[in-house]
Amino acid sequence: MGVKSADLILTDIDYILTMDDNLTEIQGGDIVIKDGKIVDIGKDKKNEYFGKTVVCRGKIALPGFVNTHTHAAMTLLRGYGSDNPLKVWLEEYIWPAEGKFVSYEFVKDGTEIAVYEMLRTGTTTFVDMYFFENAVADVISEIGIRGVLSTGILDFPTPGAKTPDEGIERTVEFIKEHRDNPFVYPAIGPHAPYTCSPETLKKAFKVSQEYDVLYHIHIAETEFEVSTVKEKYGKTPVEHLDSIGVLSERTLAAHMVYPSDREIDILAERGVKVAHCPESNLKLASGIAPVPEMIERGVTVGVGTDGTASNDDLDIIGEISTAAKLHKGYRKNPTVLNAREALLMATRWGAEAVRLDSVIGTLETGKFADIVLIDVSQPHLSPLYDPYTQVVYSARGSDVDTVIVGGEIKVLNKKVIPLDRDYLLDRANYWKEKIESIKK
Ligand SMILES: [Zn+2]
Repeated sequence: MGVKSADLILTDIDYILTMDDNLTEIQGGDIVIKDGKIVDIGKDKKNEYFGKTVVCRGKIALPGFVNTHTHAAMTLLRGYGSDNPLKVWLEEYIWPAEGKFVSYEFVKDGTEIAVYEMLRTGTTTFVDMYFFENAVADVISEIGIRGVLSTGILDFPTPGAKTPDEGIERTVEFIKEHRDNPFVYPAIGPHAPYTCSPETLKKAFKVSQEYDVLYHIHIAETEFEVSTVKEKYGKTPVEHLDSIGVLSERTLAAHMVYPSDREIDILAERGVKVAHCPESNLKLASGIAPVPEMIERGVTVGVGTDGTASNDDLDIIGEISTAAKLHKGYRKNPTVLNAREALLMATRWGAEAVRLDSVIGTLETGKFADIVLIDVSQPHLSPLYDPYTQVVYSARGSDVDTVIVGGEIKVLNKKVIPLDRDYLLDRANYWKEKIESIKK
């Protein structure tokens, strides 16, 4: 036993994939945690410290995953009205249910179900856009998972605000309220260029500059959006947003399925980040984003699940596995978006996309101890030639065994400690009955 004190020591980890700039990989190493942060990492570190110890034989350690785009509370609409044309799905299912039921209670319950699934599958930071984000903030502060939270701002009345100005005012209050909250990173969320006027988009951008928060927006998701924006403003979505000056290093663009070649250059020049949501884009038949091209031209790309109504899960391992295979197949090139790049999207690049890369996204001394341990001692993950490809192509979210956020163990032996599974199932059924009653 060593002489230095630690809060938690993870020992004998088969592989530590740090995901740092050199993709440093440690075989048979330890991670030492104190005051919520990683204080030491490497081989034979355990002998230098004393403290609570967890032996991690048969496991791969990775940085906690970053889900760069979701609508957490939409878990309550998971699977509702699937396989319909987009217009029917939205107008006959999603919007009526949201219009009738979205409230603090709905968002609280939906978010708890989402957080259960996210923790269970290794996500430790997620980017949210929805309504009643105060409910999301309450849930994540209590449970201890990180969230970059933005209220959806639209030009028409929403469950949270009658006007876009009210949505912006609420966001400013939210930013001030949560400035010192270790789990809540406030952001501003103008919904999209076809649902927000240039005036709304610019006002929101001013807030993102003034308070230095992320500007979280959907851009170029569908062909419908591109043609609508073209008709209205004579420009494509990225060109339009650039012309009104709202593209910057604080801008996180969800989807970005349809940037033109020239627009990819604009994104790179302005430092815009992209949240790639391949499964949502496939299920809603939106299209395939030019992710390899964006990465090649220097655009930072993270991965997002989107809401579960359009995915229908929050499993980041599944999402990067889909991404890696999708772009290979589409380009008929098996070297495109390799497993290392796919894992970077879920970790370091995701952290960069939300501008939290100084504190999360890699396993390095000084960063928050947000750590995922994947149980690879299972037949379907054996034999193990390469830990990166094994995680991306063979593992599933359910193979996540242990999740640590800020040095606190949230999942152990595949059990989510801070949440009661049976209670969540009851709440899901409670809302299902209410939502189904609309159709009756
Ligand atoms: Zn979305």
